[in-house]
Amino acid sequence: MKHYLGTKTGRRYPIESMAWHGDGGELLDLEPFSVAFPLDKIRARPGTLWRYQEALPFDASDDSWKSITMGEGFTPLVQLDPEQPHLFAKVDYMMPTLSFKDRGAAVLVAKAKSLGAKHLVQDSSGNAGTSIAAYAARAGLRCTIFVPEATSPKKLKQISLFGAELRIIAGSREATASAAKEFAKQDDVFYASHVYNPFFYQGTKTYAFELWEQLGKAPDTLILPVGNGTLVLGCFYGFSELLAAKMIDRLPRIVAVQSGQCDPLTRAFANDNPVVEPVVNQGTAAEGIAIAAPARGTQIVHAIRASRGTIVSIAEDLIEPARRYLASRGYDVEPTSAVNIAAFTAYPKWFPPNETVVLPLCGAGIKSL
Ligand SMILES: *Cc1c(COP(=O)(O)O)cnc(C)c1O
Repeated sequence: MKHYLGTKTGRRYPIESMAWHGDGGELLDLEPFSVAFPLDKIRARPGTLWRYQEALPFDASDDSWKSITMGEGFTPLVQLDPEQPHLFAKVDYMMPTLSFKDRGAAVLVAKAKSLGAKHLVQDSSGNAGTSIAAYAARAGLRCTIFVPEATSPKKLKQISLFGAELRIIAGSREATASAAKEFAKQDDVFYASHVYNPFFYQGTKTYAFELWEQLGKAPDTLILPVGNGTLVLGCFYGFSELLAAKMIDRLPRIVAVQSGQCDPLTRAFANDNPVVEPVVNQGTAAEGIAIAAPARGTQIVHAIRASRGTIVSIAEDLIEPARRYLASRGYDVEPTSAVNIAAFTAYPKWFPPNETVVLPLCGAGIKSL
C-alpha cells in the first residue's frame, strides 16, 4: 500500500505526502493491498491485534509498531445474560485508554511514526483524542488535541496526563474539527484524524478478525454504535476481507445505532438518500456518537446496505436504563456504550432467536463521570 485513493476521482496520492484529503477536498481511502489469514501463525502469536500481521498495512520489514504497541486488542467476548444465550458482548473498553479507539490509534500512530511525522494533531469529542495522545506519548511524538468545550472533564484530564497540548474550542463539535484542520495546514503537522485518515480504519477492522477467530465463524448480526463510523466501516472492511479470503461465507448484518437526538445517518438511510444531510445536535448523553455531519456518511450508508442491515435511533430516555441494565450484569460503561443493548431490546425484529448477535462495550463508565 503505497498510495491513498481519492474517493471521488480514484486519483492516487503517495502516502509519504501525509495528506488527509485529495484535490478539491475529496476523502481518501487506502489503495487495496493483499491480505492473508494464516490461522496457524495467528494462533501462535500473543493476544493482541497485531496477531493479524498479514492483514495489516505494514511491510514485513517495518517493525515501527513493536515499540508502540501496548498490547491492545483481543478483548474478551462474553455472554451477557444466561437468558440470551446467543447474545455476546465484546468488551472493547478493556484497552489501554479504556475505549476501542485504541485499535485505530495504535495502527495510525505507528504508521505516522514510520512515515517520519513529528507532530500529530487530532480533534475529537474525547476518546479518539485520548487514544491518539497516549500512543503519541509512547511513540515520542509531539501531540495537540482539539476538543469541544462540553467534553467530559475525565477525558480532558486523561489527554493532559499523556502530555498532549489541549485546545478547548467553544461551540459545536464541527467548530472543533475546523480549528484542527486549520492547525493541520502547518507544514510539520500530521493530521492524525480518526475520521479522515484511512489507517485508523485499518486498526478498527481487527474487531472483525477477532470476532471471527473467537466465534470460529462470522456472527449473524453485529450491533454497532455509529457517529463517524470508525467501528462500522472498520468492521465492514474486516469482514469483507475475510469474505474475499473465503474465511467466512457471508457478511454479518450490521445494525448501526444512533442517538435520536443526533441521527443524520438514520434519516438518510430511511429516506434512501446516499447523501447524508447534516442535522442539529439536540443534546444527548451519548456524546461519543453525537456527530451532526459525518464526513464519511455516504460510505457508512453504503456499508450498512451491503451488509443487509439497518440504522436505528434510540430515544434519550432509553439510555440510562440500558446503562443500568449493563451494570446489573457487572459492566460499567459510558452512556454512549449503552445504546447498543437499548437497540437490541427496542428492535427485536432484527434479532431472531437462535441467531448469533454481538455488541461491543466501547467505552468504560469511569471516563464519563
Ligand atoms: C467513538 C465512539 C463511538 C462511535 O464511533 P464512531 O467512529 O464515531 O462511529 C461509540 N462509542 C464510544 C465509546 C466511542 O468512543
